[in-house]
Amino acid sequence: MARGKQIYEGKAKILYEGPEPGTLIQFFKDDATAFNAQKKAVLEGKGVLNNRISEFVMLGLERIGIPTHFIKRINMREQLIRHVEIVPLEVVVRNVAAGSICKRLGLKEGDPLPRSVVEFYYKDDKLGDPMISEDHITAWGWASPQEIDDMMAYALRVNDYLSGLFAAAHIRLIDFKLEFGRQYENDMVRLILADEISPDGCRLWDLDTGEVMDKDRFRKDLGDVVEGYREVARRLGVLRNDDEGTGDKSGPKLVRNNGEAPS
Ligand code: UDP
Repeated sequence: MARGKQIYEGKAKILYEGPEPGTLIQFFKDDATAFNAQKKAVLEGKGVLNNRISEFVMLGLERIGIPTHFIKRINMREQLIRHVEIVPLEVVVRNVAAGSICKRLGLKEGDPLPRSVVEFYYKDDKLGDPMISEDHITAWGWASPQEIDDMMAYALRVNDYLSGLFAAAHIRLIDFKLEFGRQYENDMVRLILADEISPDGCRLWDLDTGEVMDKDRFRKDLGDVVEGYREVARRLGVLRNDDEGTGDKSGPKLVRNNGEAPS
């Protein structure tokens, strides 16, 4: 599939113009960053795994009626997506205390929360993505009250879906981050899920041992980062046990292909 000129390069992905108006190609890099890009590394094979995991999750969400930007996977590292105007917010859902909430509220990592909570952060690297309130969002016009309601409702539905999906794979969903975008069609605008859903933006612990299988392996120097991601992919049934999933030539043997022709 012909990809057009590069329009954006982020920390873990590159966006190119797509083959048709209203589409983009999202390329998954192996680059990893943490602590507002102060820590950097190239994790060989990460991009391939995130492409596959995100495809699998987005297709599952579409099936339960949550609109996403995902159209189809093109190859090992690229997917065709809908062009959206990104809402400049990170929407975090938490089930268990970990990461920044521990410091903020004096909680112990692993403490269950009284209920799932949704938080908003303003996407601005210079400011270190500060946490903000709904009033900040409407005061500065980053999203409308209706859009905030929609994001909260979608975020909780995504949480229910993902919690079940991962529990069936013997994985505990601790927290995760979502991004949304506005899709313009004629004179209509609708909010859809954008970005990616992968171990880069989720905390995923083994249900029994609590072993960390997400980007915290990189943040905390726990080693074998890509192996953690690969284990997530294997357990979800995206990769076969004997399948490394990182070779760009032969590629993984697809076992659960969501109705698409195997690549
Ligand atoms: N997260 C993310 N991108 C960010 C900040 C957070 O994907 O820029 C994810 C993170 O991986 C975790 C959740 O959002 O699953 C909550 O992160 P937290 O606020 O605890 O921040 P952290 O401690 O990861 O900096």
